[in-house]
Amino acid sequence: MPQPAATEPIVELPASEGMHVSGIVFASRELLGDEPGDVFDQVRAVATLPGIVEASYAMPDAHVGYGFPIGGVAATDITEGGVVSPGGVGFDISCGVRLMAAPVALGELHGDQLGRLLDALAALVPHGTGPGGLWKLQRRDLKRLLVEGAELTVAEGHGTEADLARIEDGGRLEGARADVVGKRALERGQSQLGSLGGGNHFLEVQVVDEVIDPERAAAFGLGEDQVVATVHCGSRGLGHQVCSDAIKQLQPAMDRAGITVPDPQLACAPVDSPEGRDYLAGMAAAANFARANRQLIGEAIRDAFEDVLGTRDVRLVYDVNHNMAARERHTVDGRDRELCVHRKGATLALPADSPQLPDDLRPHGQPVIVPGSMGTSSWVLAGDTGRAFASTCHGAGRQRSRAQARKRIHGNTLRDQLTGQGLEVRAKSAAGLAEEAPDAYKDVDEVVRVCEQVGLSRRVARLRPLGVVKG
Ligand code: 5GP
Ligand code: MN
Ligand code: MN
Repeated sequence: MPQPAATEPIVELPASEGMHVSGIVFASRELLGDEPGDVFDQVRAVATLPGIVEASYAMPDAHVGYGFPIGGVAATDITEGGVVSPGGVGFDISCGVRLMAAPVALGELHGDQLGRLLDALAALVPHGTGPGGLWKLQRRDLKRLLVEGAELTVAEGHGTEADLARIEDGGRLEGARADVVGKRALERGQSQLGSLGGGNHFLEVQVVDEVIDPERAAAFGLGEDQVVATVHCGSRGLGHQVCSDAIKQLQPAMDRAGITVPDPQLACAPVDSPEGRDYLAGMAAAANFARANRQLIGEAIRDAFEDVLGTRDVRLVYDVNHNMAARERHTVDGRDRELCVHRKGATLALPADSPQLPDDLRPHGQPVIVPGSMGTSSWVLAGDTGRAFASTCHGAGRQRSRAQARKRIHGNTLRDQLTGQGLEVRAKSAAGLAEEAPDAYKDVDEVVRVCEQVGLSRRVARLRPLGVVKG
């Protein structure tokens, strides 16, 4: 089994057997664990996709997913028959993380205010597997939302213009079409808009525990001891339906182009084919739904702070997604090329001076929000060298499956342990809680350290959880 060198946390998997490029896994021995073989196999399988360039990458938090590894980054050249694969985006299209900063220091929270804040958040933000409800839309307006994203949400009074400058793509991903989103997907979206969902999705109140890079922290509006809130959620059933519909619909394009893949979950179509274009337009629609969804939850967070602490001046630090395919230009082999970059469980991490960044963030690089797990740290990072098509990790990454995690601890025991550590826990499902036990995940501090060592991103600040709302 290939291992990283002691000096550099990188494993290279040389191109062989149908691979068009080599595999590059950024990970230390500690992060790879005892059995990295399955992730390596998935990285190799992705390297067989038509049109893939440079390398099939895995970020330091990578683990096994459907087809593509979670933590996988792969780019194909659009002008040379490069493909898009829904499996390289994932089922929860544009799932992502939003960080909001309150004008409150931890020491200013008195008595039962933290508990009441968590009660208010749990009451105001629909969570669990059921319906949403932060904004009820007619079908016609939902279709508009799929094209306009968080821009429409803000235009209708849910948030401010300043919020849009802190969301990727200004809150609106171009190229979305509602007519390619199926009926079932629309139904699911309509009932679930404005909700967190269950499982790994969460809303946490945290405190900035340690500032590593004071200049960037200040530029991001973060200071030591500040109270912040992090939301992790995506496009709910709408995105899931768009993904599963697409995997079926791509088959004719694969047949026409004579594409075979080593795993049915790697189904793909040339970006420049009717099926490829339709998938990307539906994916963009789901991405806009996810951006609007997080924007609505952000407003509900402001409502909760206003109810309990009398301020709704809770600023959006940044909103990033970690499940998408994007058309981007990058230099590969000395040539500027138009690529389709898949990031599945991986985050865009633009380096300083990137033109896509708003003026005030441009000197510092793009903010990246990395959740750890319930009861451990989360991190704020910034893009660094732009390596791996300007990508970095998206979390700690699982080291145990949900089933394994459930066997190790009962949800109620875990809830007692976390409460005993002083964490305010508001969870709908005890079984769901056990699947998300901190030891189901890798060590997030090690993940972000490796990201920094290899130049993917640099550390800005560490966050410590105070309370969590889970589905
Ligand atoms: P994913 O998008 O792959 O489902 O999850 C992203 C990351 O969120 C996981 O890799 C894990 O590190 C993190 N995570 C899952 N549950 C929680 C939680 O309750 N709190 C925090 N802070 N992070 C979590
Ligand atoms: Mn998700
Ligand atoms: Mn996610």
